[in-house]
Amino acid sequence: MKKYKCKLCGQIFEVAEGTEPVCPICKATGDELELIEETPKSKYAGTQTEKNLEAAFAGESQASIHISHLLPKKKDMSRYRHFS
Ligand SMILES: [Zn+2]
Repeated sequence: MKKYKCKLCGQIFEVAEGTEPVCPICKATGDELELIEETPKSKYAGTQTEKNLEAAFAGESQASIHISHLLPKKKDMSRYRHFS
């Protein structure tokens, strides 16, 4: 999504990527619209929220590593049963 501000009426609206932006209020297009640069990454930069998010992601990846370690054990167990 890209965010635009209409220079004519001040309306702020979003359009999908690759879609021609048209003001929903006054139908302004092109140079009458100002692209608003959004930087979602810097929104939480250096804040406690970002650290919490990083901790959450780290915990998630640790969980999947833990699961992948368990999977070969299950395979070994079934192989053992097959031969016994
Ligand atoms: Zn407008």
